[in-house]
Amino acid sequence: MDYGPAPEAAGEVLKWLSARGDFGHYINGRFTPPGTTFEVRNPATGDLLARVSQGGEADVAAAVKAARAALPRWSKLSGHDRARHLYALARHIQKRERFLAVLETLDNGKPIRETRDIDVPLVARHLYHHAGWAEMLAEEFPGQGPVGVCGQIIPWNFPLLMLAWKIAPALAAGNTVVLKPAEYTPLTALAFAEICAEVGLPKGVVNIVTGDGATGAALVAADVDKIAFTGSTEVGRAIRKATAGTGKKLTLELGGKSPFIVFADADIDGAVEGVVDAIWFNQGQVCCAGSRILVQEGIAGTFTERLTARLGKLRLGDPLDKSTDIGAIVDPVQLARIRDLVAQGQAEGAVLHQAPCQLPSRGSFFAPGFFTNVAPANIVSEVEIFGPVATLTTFRTPDEAVELANNTRYGLAASVWSENINLALDVAARVKAGVVWVNATNIFDAGAGFGGYRESGFGREGGREGVGEYLSEAPVKAKAESAPV
Ligand code: NAD
Repeated sequence: MDYGPAPEAAGEVLKWLSARGDFGHYINGRFTPPGTTFEVRNPATGDLLARVSQGGEADVAAAVKAARAALPRWSKLSGHDRARHLYALARHIQKRERFLAVLETLDNGKPIRETRDIDVPLVARHLYHHAGWAEMLAEEFPGQGPVGVCGQIIPWNFPLLMLAWKIAPALAAGNTVVLKPAEYTPLTALAFAEICAEVGLPKGVVNIVTGDGATGAALVAADVDKIAFTGSTEVGRAIRKATAGTGKKLTLELGGKSPFIVFADADIDGAVEGVVDAIWFNQGQVCCAGSRILVQEGIAGTFTERLTARLGKLRLGDPLDKSTDIGAIVDPVQLARIRDLVAQGQAEGAVLHQAPCQLPSRGSFFAPGFFTNVAPANIVSEVEIFGPVATLTTFRTPDEAVELANNTRYGLAASVWSENINLALDVAARVKAGVVWVNATNIFDAGAGFGGYRESGFGREGGREGVGEYLSEAPVKAKAESAPV
């Protein structure tokens, strides 16, 4: 593939990958020799990027042991000292932002504009924010202490950002962690491990074990005090069962089918741009994607026309090209899932409006679009497609909009578009979702709690609530085998 628009950075990343060879796990401050490995490929080309170790029970146990051993000293550091480590991580992320953005784009397939302007800056922001919490912990949460060793399992759609959402509050609150990145996208987590070593984070405080669902299940079953999981509702359910009765603290950030409600008095062009961010950003592989567009009847024709025109202008292609809007789908398996759901939607009579893009001859690409002529009972109205395809239906009254919006088993996010602030705030309060944006969408801030209701999970990440999830009323007792770090 021609890496034209970012040749130097791509070259640097590819050189780093080939210099590293096969990756082991990062346990107790160093990389283990690689064991049985699996391949990690660039979804935009299918090219092999790296071979990464498949973690088993013994690897997970070694990582948990290292985290347990590091806990007494890390949890007893002053908040100020823990903050210094988090600041150092944040600064180092910023120093290597170009490298990390290119690595993330190669590994995940998302456009470089997103990794460069959104993912990596938000990672740094999250670490800076939580450094502040480390400083304030004793005052803000008197009498509370860390939960202990935290097992953290993350998905592939925002690999480095989800890592930061997990690791930053855990470390700020004095916990130590074992994190398992998703099997499609483990590379930025491994680069992060390198950064932990470079900034002198005490060994054992952060451990990274790579692998698939079986590795995740081993982590859930291991001697950890908390599991923090982001991923699918199905796996979340299995983890809930596996941890029931074990005393392990649990937070789950799961799927969504979020409504995007446009009232007749909305700024139509603004709302159309909102749809671009809601469902086509990151190829729709966003847990809080606005995947159900609900438009008030009076403007449905105009809105659909303008949305179709905007859809036609999206540029799909090489994710490393700075002008690309739509990159690759993370993996051929996910692509097949999207194709299958879209075909089922069409078979049920829904009409697909798809961007007239030329798909590259290689790689996993799917032309973005939206469905009309959909009924609430259609599969594409109910199931999270986790791809760049929304449904568009109409409503007449605010009450009907609220009813349709809440007609889902999920409850993660929602957007409401109206120039009438009273209407927007009234509707926002009645929509059952963890976050509701007004005249905006997909806005994240490290200072605001994020999380769902119902089958979207429980617990919050970000802000005061997010820190609270990593604290316990009774500070954890160090276990006998704990050794100095
Ligand atoms: P997934 O559930 O298949 O995988 C997520 C992680 O769990 C991966 O690291 C995977 O290896 C691991 N895993 C798989 N099986 C496991 C098991 N039995 N025990 C323990 N770990 C296991 O999800 P995915 O396909 O990687 O991600 C997409 C899903 O994640 C979507 O449903 C999306 O909505 C959700 N998501 C939610 C949020 C949120 O904040 N709520 C954020 C991003 C993604």
